[in-house]
Amino acid sequence: MMLEKQRQELYRLHLELPRSGLVTWTGGNVSLRDPGTGYVLIKPSGVRYEALQPEHMVVLDLQGKVIEGGLSPSSDTASHLYIYRQREDVAGIVHTHSPYATAFAALGKPIPVFLTAQADEFGGPIPCAGFALIGGEQIGKLVVETIGESPAVLLKNHGVFTIGKDATAAVKAAVMVEDAARTVFYAMRLGRPISIPNDMVERLHKRYTEKYGQ
Ligand SMILES: [Zn+2]
Repeated sequence: MMLEKQRQELYRLHLELPRSGLVTWTGGNVSLRDPGTGYVLIKPSGVRYEALQPEHMVVLDLQGKVIEGGLSPSSDTASHLYIYRQREDVAGIVHTHSPYATAFAALGKPIPVFLTAQADEFGGPIPCAGFALIGGEQIGKLVVETIGESPAVLLKNHGVFTIGKDATAAVKAAVMVEDAARTVFYAMRLGRPISIPNDMVERLHKRYTEKYGQ
């Protein structure tokens, strides 16, 4: 079986989704682009997380031809592939219906920056794209049009897409979106949250992306 290491990595990252409360039943998916072959690995359609195995991951080329895999790929595959074709900087994509972030999507509203952690991680509000039907490339088109510099975007009436330089970064963004959305939700219940001025958002984001960490 090809791309064993990438299969293991993608399998391990999928387990983070239920662990972090981002998905229920078979919802949600992660994909990664292997830089060596250019192939994309993605979760199979309709398999529960408890039953998922590394060998279930479907390997495709960027045009959607299955290179290796016995199961049908996720119903969001065409949109993942569209994003990879348009964004050469992206090597990981996550889609969830994580509840707090998706509550904003239900209103068709972006998530404003009220917390320094949001400024650090996202460098601005998390935008909300329009409505699209599932199955084709339409969701991928909306993601590419709307996401800009952000690692995350909401899809109206639907859920969340995140992107990253690798699949771990995309999963981290999916966890952080939900974390931010939850606190913002509580803050909005308590009163009127205070926005962080744009210049401060920029400074926080710059410090975090350039200096933070080991
Ligand atoms: Zn979905």
